[in-house]
Amino acid sequence: MINVTKTYLPDKEKYKKYIDQIYANGWVTNRGPLVRELEQRLAEYLGVKNLVLVANGTVALEIAYRTLDIKDYVITTPFSFVATTSSLVTNGLKPVFSDINPDTLNINPQNITNSITKNTSAIVPVHVFGNACDVEQIDNIAKENDLKVIYDAAHAFGVNYKGQSILNYGNISTLSFHATKLFHTIEGGALVINDDDLVEKARYLINFGIENRESIPELGTNAKMNEFEAAMGLCMLDEIESVLEERKAVFENYKLALEGVVKLQKPNTHSSNNHGYFPILLENENQMDQVQQALNRHEIHPRRYFHPSLNTLSYIEPKQDMPISQDISKRILSLPIYPELTKKEQVNIINVIQGAL
Ligand SMILES: *Cc1c(COP(=O)(O)O)cnc(C)c1O
Repeated sequence: MINVTKTYLPDKEKYKKYIDQIYANGWVTNRGPLVRELEQRLAEYLGVKNLVLVANGTVALEIAYRTLDIKDYVITTPFSFVATTSSLVTNGLKPVFSDINPDTLNINPQNITNSITKNTSAIVPVHVFGNACDVEQIDNIAKENDLKVIYDAAHAFGVNYKGQSILNYGNISTLSFHATKLFHTIEGGALVINDDDLVEKARYLINFGIENRESIPELGTNAKMNEFEAAMGLCMLDEIESVLEERKAVFENYKLALEGVVKLQKPNTHSSNNHGYFPILLENENQMDQVQQALNRHEIHPRRYFHPSLNTLSYIEPKQDMPISQDISKRILSLPIYPELTKKEQVNIINVIQGAL
């Protein structure tokens, strides 16, 4: 069976050496030496100043909102993984959706401007499938209207924009290191914080609000990464270049065969691609069903990333209509893409799609 992704497991002997180290020093969690080492190495690898590791990408978003004191209404995209919206709702924030650009699949800055009111406090865009948002325009809109920007960069590991990390835009960017993502720590995530003054606050917030034995200055939670997860991250980081290369080969192979046959996401020309996903857009939901069923008959399981459009979730009140996102979400499929996907499997996937159209 072929799924949309397959968790990459790095060299086992190396992982065992880290486990031996953890057993030897007995330090399993609470910002141990491996978490510190991974924070340092990731900041360097990604080209960012301040990186705080956390338990997952969902809690990274929640900590970002709390670090920046976000209140009331937040403008966000309806086309993302559910956590982008649910993290707002669970923190008492009200999502105001702005529809997407049908080509880039990212939030449309024009719509953001139209949605701003005096009760808006922040914008939460997503670099969908690693495709960079219109970061300069979004950051300008935010400045003009005194809003914070939190980029959900769960898909944007290693993506550069005009030669520097995309994570350096906005106030905070969040990453997910879940096992399904291209770089992972089993479960995990990170905040990239561009304001140096907010780093300590984020560190208290992920540790119950505790500063030291004497002082608990913030209302916090428990969102810490542990040493076993950090060890996985350190091993992954050693192999990330080959992971990226092998994904790129799959991506290029699909692109060569499917460009012009189905519609593909339009890339931001100023940004690099990490080849984390390969979404295809079919003409309508019917055709999407046909393609999906044909693939399923061959034990190939693409995913409907993203479906449903988040403005249609049951817990979103009042209802907001997002025609573009609702249309796209009905007819998009993300194809299997991961390093171990063989040439033969890729050819098979391509043939089944072509046969189903
Ligand atoms: C994966 C993902 C998340 C959630 O990350 P977890 O680590 O699974 O909690 C949030 N936003 C987007 C866009 C994602 O793809």
